[in-house]
Amino acid sequence: MAKHQFQTEANQILHLMIHSLYSNKEIFLRELVSNASDALDKLNMLVLTDDAYKGVNFAPRIDIVANKEAKTLTIKDSGIGMNEEDLMNNLGTIAKSGTKAFLENLTGDQKQDSNLIGQFGVGFYACFMVASKVEVTTKKAGEEQAYLWISKGDGEFEIEPATMEGHGTQIVMHLNEDEDEFLEAYRIESIIKKYSNHIPFPIFMDKEKHIPAIKDDEGNETEPSKTEIENVQINRANALWTIAKSEIKDEEYKDFYSSIAHSSEEPLAWMHNKAEGAIEYTTLFYIPSKAPMDMYRVDYQTGIKLYINRVFITDDEKELMPTYLRFLRGVIDSKDLPLNVSREILQSNAVMNKIKNASVKKVLSELSKLKKDKEKYDTFYKEFGNVLKEGLYNDFANREKILDLLQFHTLNSTETVYLEDFVKNVDEQKKEIYYITGKTSLAMLKNSPALEKFKARGIDVLVLNEEVDTIIFPMVTEYKEYKLVHVSDAKFEDSEEEKKEKEETAKTYEGLVKEFKDALGEDVKDVETTSDLVDSPVALKIDKEDPSYMMAQMMKQMGQGGDVPEPAPILQINPNHELLVKLRDSADQNLINDAAHVLLDQAKLFDGRELKDTADFISRLNRIISKAL
Ligand code: ADP
Repeated sequence: MAKHQFQTEANQILHLMIHSLYSNKEIFLRELVSNASDALDKLNMLVLTDDAYKGVNFAPRIDIVANKEAKTLTIKDSGIGMNEEDLMNNLGTIAKSGTKAFLENLTGDQKQDSNLIGQFGVGFYACFMVASKVEVTTKKAGEEQAYLWISKGDGEFEIEPATMEGHGTQIVMHLNEDEDEFLEAYRIESIIKKYSNHIPFPIFMDKEKHIPAIKDDEGNETEPSKTEIENVQINRANALWTIAKSEIKDEEYKDFYSSIAHSSEEPLAWMHNKAEGAIEYTTLFYIPSKAPMDMYRVDYQTGIKLYINRVFITDDEKELMPTYLRFLRGVIDSKDLPLNVSREILQSNAVMNKIKNASVKKVLSELSKLKKDKEKYDTFYKEFGNVLKEGLYNDFANREKILDLLQFHTLNSTETVYLEDFVKNVDEQKKEIYYITGKTSLAMLKNSPALEKFKARGIDVLVLNEEVDTIIFPMVTEYKEYKLVHVSDAKFEDSEEEKKEKEETAKTYEGLVKEFKDALGEDVKDVETTSDLVDSPVALKIDKEDPSYMMAQMMKQMGQGGDVPEPAPILQINPNHELLVKLRDSADQNLINDAAHVLLDQAKLFDGRELKDTADFISRLNRIISKAL
């Protein structure tokens, strides 16, 4: 008998299962049944595609046996099984990096934490929530030797050779003192119905059957009533997605979600679609009501299972759906893919690509319909809106559809709006949609000096204050027949009169502009008067010839070229602002010098930029205040 230590992470998980997670313990059954179902799926595929497995006698089933005297609960499957090496790797270590994320994400909230177990692929260890000792006997299909794995979840496990008929895995759990409920047939059956009703394989269990007394014509009992033990199938074992929509109840859709998403929460919505035509396939997609914890991790777990004519192929293929829809959970099943499809082939397979493209279109159009249910859609958008935006740069073909799903804050409205409504108020001649981006608060961005020319003209502007917006929107240039234009690039024609007036005003400022330029030197590219400002004295403008400030920011964010110098901005001054009128007419050189610096810094702050020298800003500001007092 060989003793082994659990890998550190596995030990941490075990410790957690045993000592910290008390609520929602029943999910251990969901996890073990899900593992059994996966093992059956794997062997099913091999038997159908690999000649080496042609001789294997494959009768797929899962059996649950409760022994009240011994206080053991046993789950047995006729799946692929494990050899010694598999046991070492699978039930001793945790291969997935997701585990670290699991540990990091623990909130202390029991219900939520137990919900994470399935999401992070540590399901097997959940049996230690209810058992003090677990014995796994297993034999790999096509191999001779069986093995027994034993652990008390106390840091070590043992493996020894064993005997077993046929192939598959049997897990015997010695239940803790107060876990007797999991030995009751009705309790087990209700848990299975809740989480595992629609796994594609039958689950059997012994159940008591009451046989009423038999009476003769006079009403005398000829045989007393009795109870017999019957071995019955307790789940429906119908691959839910293969059933016609009209025959599936909402409850069944929800139950199926809990088994494939390993979640106890209700899904927000689902879309079930059967395509018949050149290519036949069925898809059943769910939108979770909460974002998966690992959604923003590179090694996020995918949620789509691929079946070929009901034979499970993979649930670990990130290319099945585009990454911006990575929150979806569900199933794709097609008869028109070759069973022995390899991962490389899958990615370049024309049929797969057609299914993928059509599925994406379907999901986007279903989402568009969901917009009508405001409450649901708002929940969806809150959780997944920013992920959806990623599609704007990696799914060009569907850009317009994705834009139609986005909710925008605007300068003139308190509620978010959709673009299709926003454009109703766009100037039909110019056909330009203006937007401003910035990583500041919405209120701050709405007060940006760059918006004053729009306020003065009563023009509405999209106000985009999410970090992803600053990266994505500069790449989005069109929506239908409209152009998307950054506020700093917006141009409005002046009448002849207005032009003349402006030129005259500008002339009166030539002196001050020169003094400002001298004072600011390299810090600005230029200083100019502008008629775009109303309330603010100054604003910054980026010279379009320069690689934009956003670009420099983006490079920084990607960790590239932290030294890329930001282009010096143009300082725009408002000739009608009292402050500048007074400065123009002042002869105090020192004051003008300080004011130039403070005004530049002020404009930077408004744009959410950092100041070059905060101490300098404060001492200049203080000098100005002293003078005023
Ligand atoms: P996950 O199922 O998410 O991979 P688990 O901790 O539940 O994580 O299981 C770890 C691994 O152990 C599985 O990936 C699988 O390879 C193996 N395993 C677990 N249960 C069985 C079983 N009944 N039959 C065969 N292999 C199993």
